[in-house]
Amino acid sequence: MPFSTKRRFAANCGHEPFLALCYDSGMPIRRETRWLYPIDWPLISKHIRFEVAGPHGAGRCWKCGRPHGHELRVLPDGRWFDAELHTWRDARGKEAAWPDMVDACRMRKTRVILAACHRDHDPPNVKPKNLAAWCQRCHILNDREHHRRQFRLTILLRRAMGDLFEGAYQRW
Ligand SMILES: [Zn+2]
Repeated sequence: MPFSTKRRFAANCGHEPFLALCYDSGMPIRRETRWLYPIDWPLISKHIRFEVAGPHGAGRCWKCGRPHGHELRVLPDGRWFDAELHTWRDARGKEAAWPDMVDACRMRKTRVILAACHRDHDPPNVKPKNLAAWCQRCHILNDREHHRRQFRLTILLRRAMGDLFEGAYQRW
């Protein structure tokens, strides 16, 4: 990743002073949860993503098997093209049917970025059983319910701030 892209990536998540930490952990970290992560989080993250062999091998998503850093052809249903074995794989990494013309029209390319993820959404809990290396698609799907709950909490907190201080409130 070029340096300018890394800086934009870090700036978006509010971690510009912590560029290396943010980029090396593979996933932007929210400003307000930054201090919940252990100081050696980049090393832990790197170990989980590239040294621990998941079901599909090291350096691959533990759910779908997509390899880190590769630009892949993907379909909306989660199928992806495995160029090494010249076959399509499904969202669990198993061999899948080739796309028909309709599917092929919805094909796009995406670069896989593995992230070390907390299964229980609790950043201080870095026990090996609680961590997994997932690609961005599997991470978002896994955290969907958690994100919905967080979104509701954020809205409620903003309303409460508006009530307390009588007026328009701003994002913290
Ligand atoms: Zn995945």
